[in-house]
Amino acid sequence: MQSISTLSSRHVRRYWNDPEKERARSRRKYAENREYYCQKNRTRYRDNPKAAAMLYLRRKREHPVEFTLWRLRNRSKVRGRPFSLTLLDVEALLSVEACESCGSALVGGQPSRLRPRARTIDERVHGKGYVPGNVGVLCGRCNSLKSDASPIEIRQLAAYVQRI
Ligand SMILES: [Zn+2]
Repeated sequence: MQSISTLSSRHVRRYWNDPEKERARSRRKYAENREYYCQKNRTRYRDNPKAAAMLYLRRKREHPVEFTLWRLRNRSKVRGRPFSLTLLDVEALLSVEACESCGSALVGGQPSRLRPRARTIDERVHGKGYVPGNVGVLCGRCNSLKSDASPIEIRQLAAYVQRI
């Protein structure tokens, strides 16, 4: 509960009378000026990189499934690949606990040298896109080793590494 001292006198006066009425009033005001408020928000995030970054982080934190779906869809769009995952597919991918290749326990966050076991979504066959049946869950290490290699290339590489 917000303490009254942090509210402006204008708010105190309104909420003091009838909070329900105040909510109805602001909803009505929003509905009447919807275009104005939408435009205001658009320019707010366009002209203010800091606010846009905060919004990005808030979405990432509060809606991880939707955020991942959005990020994968964007990536497919940029690369011009097919995309047909649903929220349920992404939820299933995010609930996988172990890397499908090496079996190590997965952690959150961005994969890096210091965090090799971060969860990443793998496009099994590169070019086929993020579609059901062509996605896997790998740790960052396995995914960067795999990259866009074909099974033949990986076998050749493994043979080379064993010869050393
Ligand atoms: Zn792995």
